[in-house]
Amino acid sequence: KTFEDLNLHPNLLKGIYKMGYQKPSKIQEKALPLLLQNPARNMIGQSQSGTGKTAAFALTMLSRIDMDLKAPQASSFAVCIAPSRELAMQILSVVQRMGEYTPVECFFAGKDSWTKGMPKLTQQVIIGTPGTMIDMVTKGRVLDLREVKVFVLDEADNMLESGSMGDQSITLKNLITKMAKDPQIVLFSATFADVVRNFAVRFAPGANEIRL
Ligand code: AMP
Repeated sequence: KTFEDLNLHPNLLKGIYKMGYQKPSKIQEKALPLLLQNPARNMIGQSQSGTGKTAAFALTMLSRIDMDLKAPQASSFAVCIAPSRELAMQILSVVQRMGEYTPVECFFAGKDSWTKGMPKLTQQVIIGTPGTMIDMVTKGRVLDLREVKVFVLDEADNMLESGSMGDQSITLKNLITKMAKDPQIVLFSATFADVVRNFAVRFAPGANEIRL
């Protein structure tokens, strides 16, 4: 299989090849046809880092944004949450590079980043950590999630298990309930622990399930 087989926007193909990717990784080949199907379906994917999952969901977010829409956007269309600032920044970099030939702009929701400047109306992809994201919505009121089309949770097990960063399930649930339009929920996790599975059953109903 090639990236051409995946029905991606030509400008996204340009970005992919500029990054030096020649053909889809195993998880991209498995996940992308399901992630890009219409009407959109939720997904729960089991995958470790190093497999190319970031590109799979980055392409999904970029593909769900209308690239011909030139007018400023009143709301964010794709949101991605990761358990750490470092991981969120890596995801941001992938989305920006893949989207180099598209008009899509990203906003990094890191600690304090939004207090210095509000997101502009032109930024359609928001990437950050759970705490900052919910603060932007409820405290800062600078982020409007009503029109979100796709919501990605990377390393969901790290956010849902009561481990190092504590259980973020309430924050994640609060974010999802601000999204009015039944977004596509995409959840990647290294394990399908009970907390992950229970969260998915409740908030990502009918999800396609893939394992690598
Ligand atoms: P990830 O699992 O998302 O952390 O990606 C692991 C590494 O694989 C990153 O350095 C990516 O740039 C790289 N990568 C992802 N997809 C591909 C691909 N289709 N071809 C070559 N490298 C890739």
